[in-house]
Amino acid sequence: MADKRLRNKLKNRPAAPKRDQTVRNRLKSAGRTYRANDNISDVLRPGDLDAIERDVERVAGELLSALVIDTVNDHNTHGTAKRMAKMFVHEIFAGRYQPPPRCTDFPNVRSMDEIYVVGPIAVRSACSHHFCPVEGEVWFGVIPGKRVIGLSKFSRIANWILARPQIQEEAIMQLADEVERIISPRGLAVVLSARHSCMTWRGVKEDGTTMTTSVMRGIFRDGPAARAEVLSLISAKGFRCQ
Ligand SMILES: [Zn+2]
Repeated sequence: MADKRLRNKLKNRPAAPKRDQTVRNRLKSAGRTYRANDNISDVLRPGDLDAIERDVERVAGELLSALVIDTVNDHNTHGTAKRMAKMFVHEIFAGRYQPPPRCTDFPNVRSMDEIYVVGPIAVRSACSHHFCPVEGEVWFGVIPGKRVIGLSKFSRIANWILARPQIQEEAIMQLADEVERIISPRGLAVVLSARHSCMTWRGVKEDGTTMTTSVMRGIFRDGPAARAEVLSLISAKGFRCQ
């Protein structure tokens, strides 16, 4: 019975306007996922981003209209759909559409095998569940292997990974994977602490709460002494576990 009602409801739903399926079809035929925090830059061709931006603008306009906002006569929201499309595609979710930041890596010529810590790096994101802003800080602790990268590259990588609709637990894994892919360090610690506005702005409205996640790889995962040392260095750089 419920099934029949659902079928009728779906049948009577107005047909969605046609959208350009080129990029989605390309992803599907390559067997690729395109979840909220996936990067799809390698399948994009010239003109695709403009088409995506136009598509988002049109649908954002429909969203405003569905919210019963008169975007024609309201001077404040007249250009909002266009601004939303530009912001989503080129700014806050650019980490889905832009290729990885160029990170020149260098040989670790002095075979440095001590811990170094980088942070706090300010990061901004949006939660995939509500598309509400997430703001936080990330710290990296590294014992280098054969390759090293400049300190500013950690910031570029963090901004690229976080500029997607994210789930903090997955964001931090992606951060660790990307650093490992580039420099294969002997030890890698990533600590991410963030305030989720889906908990402060809506829902339980719990202002003081932050969420902290950490990932330990290599020496930091296997050696309690190395892990304790890197965590104390990260604490000394401003991280406070709450
Ligand atoms: Zn959320």
